[in-house]
Order: sequence, then structure tokens, then C-alpha cells
Amino acid sequence: MKRIVVIGGGFAGLWSAIGAARKLDEQGASNQVEVVMVNPHAHHSIRVRNYEADLGATLVPLSDVLSPVGVQWIQGAATDIDVAGKQVTVSVRGRTAPLPFDKLVLASGSRLVDAPIRGLADHAFNVDTYEGAERLERRLLRMVHSHGAGSLTFVVIGSGLTGVEVASELPHRVRDLLVASGERLRECEVRVVLIERAPRIAMAMGGAQPVIEQSLTQLGVEMMTGVEIEQIDDTGMTLAGGKRIDTSTIIWCGGMHASPLTRCIPVERDALGRVPVDKTLRVEGVPDVFAAGDVARALFEDGRHESVMSCQHSRPMGRFAGHNVVCDLLGLPMLPLDIDWYTTILDLGPWGAVYTEGWERRLAAQGQQAKNVKRVINTERIYPPRTGNRADLFNAAAPIVQAPPPIRG
Ligand SMILES: Cc1cc2nc3c(=O)[nH]c(=O)nc-3n(C[C@H](O)[C@H](O)[C@H](O)COP(=O)(O)OP(=O)(O)OC[C@H]3O[C@@H](n4cnc5c(N)ncnc54)[C@H](O)[C@@H]3O)c2cc1C
Repeated sequence: MKRIVVIGGGFAGLWSAIGAARKLDEQGASNQVEVVMVNPHAHHSIRVRNYEADLGATLVPLSDVLSPVGVQWIQGAATDIDVAGKQVTVSVRGRTAPLPFDKLVLASGSRLVDAPIRGLADHAFNVDTYEGAERLERRLLRMVHSHGAGSLTFVVIGSGLTGVEVASELPHRVRDLLVASGERLRECEVRVVLIERAPRIAMAMGGAQPVIEQSLTQLGVEMMTGVEIEQIDDTGMTLAGGKRIDTSTIIWCGGMHASPLTRCIPVERDALGRVPVDKTLRVEGVPDVFAAGDVARALFEDGRHESVMSCQHSRPMGRFAGHNVVCDLLGLPMLPLDIDWYTTILDLGPWGAVYTEGWERRLAAQGQQAKNVKRVINTERIYPPRTGNRADLFNAAAPIVQAPPPIRG
């Protein structure tokens, strides 16, 4: 029996594993090759929804989507990869064991970057993981019952996509919690501040930038730009120049960096910590290792654009990596991945959303029209089929590039 190991059960890992099982099934080779996934949690997390108030539907049990297609999985963390010796070290409840592989797909994703801001690590919240988002929700619940200075002031640091989505949700989310908890609606006390070091917020958002600024103003979010943070402590933050903000809830949205497991692969990584992959998703110069999602840097559109750390790219990268790793093992021709479109759909809370097209982010839709698209993406498009049906899962894992999400109405 040969073995394909997939590290990670996020967007790239899930689709790599199901994609591999699909190709093995098609080739009648399921009894010669096993697919084993390693993931620390028993769930596939719909990570892009961690800024939302209701996290209830964001976890998909791995057994629901892997068992029907015959993929085995180990609830544990890969702690090392020996590329030459072809084995992964897996830690399960503190005990480590080797897991040999014939082919490997690395899909361990990314994590929030650190920043050299004093007090950040000890005091800041985040929405990078489900656990982080749950912790923030518990904090909000506590704060609506608190009457201390700054208890209803919420500071979001970083106006990238995640920071803007969190800041847009917070004003009504806190007000809803105040109402639901029977607290007097201390509306005038609710303060949401979005802090950005650059001269404007959301500068990467191209043609949508002015719309985002306008929507945040209408939502009552204060924007502070060109600001450096000196330090964070128990009761708030001090900005360079000495200005003080009293707050008990700071949410760090400083960007993502590839999983540290990429260091085990003997290649030069890019500034985001990603390993370079060729069009088949094989790590350049490393024959038995494929990589997909946030750990991998692929080139699209004839090499003109780098893949973006996104669910948008991780899912097709996963489907193609799964297909190709099996082809490689069985000596079949592999399929190149190229994606000739790029969109960004950014949630702006009750105001709606913005939808941009192209790498330069031309504004294509805004308000409720864009919000309808975002809703379909967040609740349907990025979910695996939840029918428990093998054929449905295999269909969804086919190595194809979907069309961009359609704008309707
Ligand atoms: C709040 C938020 C909003 C976002 N919004 C969007 C959006 O609107 N559109 C978009 O395209 N993208 C969005 N993103 C980015 C998107 O979520 C990521 O790019 C995407 O999740 C990457 O997929 P992945 O499979 O590479 O990694 P992940 O989804 O992070 O999955 C990695 C998996 O690997 C596991 N893992 C990590 N380390 C190990 C280990 N050592 N051993 C085993 N398993 C391990 C993790 O637990 C996880 O299950 C958003 C991200 C956040 C945080």
C-alpha cells in the first residue's frame, strides 16, 4: 500500500485530500494507495467567516466529508517533515510518531503575523482562527455588562480586508448584544476605532477604497490613519506622540504569514514564508512534495500574477494538487493550474459589501447587490457538499477552475 499524506484540513488540504481520493477512485487504485490527512481539529473551519457574529455554522465535521470518500485522518499536528527520509512527524496528544509518505501535500495554511508592538501578544484579540473568534465573542459579551472606562471602545488595528470586515461588523454587533443582554442601550458610548499606519485606510482596495471609507463613516467607525502604536496594556493603548485610547478590547488584524512547516522544505521561501510551486502545484525542485493554499506561491496568467493568500485561490490549488499528486504517483500526465480572473468581495456589515474585479481591483458592485454575492460565497460556494454523498464530494473536487461569482440584480 502506498500513502499520500496531506497536512492541513483547511480549504487547500480538504480539497487536496478529496481530489486525491477522487482520482484514485477514477483509476481504480483506491486499494493500492491510501490518503491520510493530518489536522489538529476534528473540523474543517470556514475561516473566512470568523469576523461574523454567529460562528455556529462555520465548522464542518471532517468525518462528514472524509469518511464517505475513504480518506483517513489523524487528529494531530505535524511537527516536522523529513523530505529526504519521506516522513512526517505527527504529534497526537503530546506523543509523537513518524508517518511515512510516498507523496506529500503541504497545506498547513497561514497564521496571523506578529508585530513588535509592546503588549500586543498579551492583550490583543484576533479573528484568525475559530478559537480566536470565539474568544473575541466572549469578550464582547463581558464588555456589554461592564461599565469601566473604555469598556465599550473597540479598537481594530490594521485596515486590510480582515480589519475592515471586523470594524464594519462591530458597531451593530455590540448594539445587538447590549439589547439582547437587557442592558440599557448606551448607544452613544459604543465606539469603534480602526487604526492604520498608512495614510489612508484599505489602500490595497483600488477602486473600492473611497466606497469603503464612506461606508465606514456611515457605520460610525472612527478611522485613524498615519498612526504608529507605542504600546498596549491592560487598560488601553498609547500612540506614538503620547495620545492615549482607553479600551479593553483591541483586535489585531496585521496580516498573514505562511505556516512555519514551510521551513522544513529545502527551498527558498518568499517574503510571506511561502514555498514556490510550479503549475502542477509541485514544490519547485522537490519531487515528492506538493503544496497548496497559503503555504504556496503559484504564478497565474502566464506568470504575471502571484497567487494570493485567499480561499479563492486555496480551493482550486487544493483540487489540482490532489489530482496531480495521484497522477505523479501513478505515472499519469498532470494538469496545469492557471486562473485567469481575480475578484475581491469585501463585507461591509449592514452597509452591504463591495465587489471588485481584476488585479487592480476595479469597482464592479457595491451595497446590497455586492452583499448578496458575499452571502452566497460565505454560506454556499465555499462549503463542501454536506449531503454525505460520495459522488457529490467527488464532483466538487474535480480539477476545474470555477467561473467568478456572478453579480445578479
Ligand atoms: C477573518 C478572515 C476573513 C477572510 N476573508 C477572506 C475572503 O473573503 N476571501 C478569501 O479568498 N480569503 C479570505 N481569507 C483568507 C482565507 O481564509 C485563507 O487564505 C484560507 O483559509 C487559506 O486556506 P488554507 O487551506 O491554505 O489554510 P487554512 O484555511 O488556514 O487551513 C490550514 C489548516 O492546516 C491546519 N494546520 C496548521 N498547522 C498544522 C500542522 N502543523 N499540522 C497539521 N495541520 C496544521 C490548520 O489547523 C488548518 O486546519 C480570510 C481570512 C480570515 C482570517
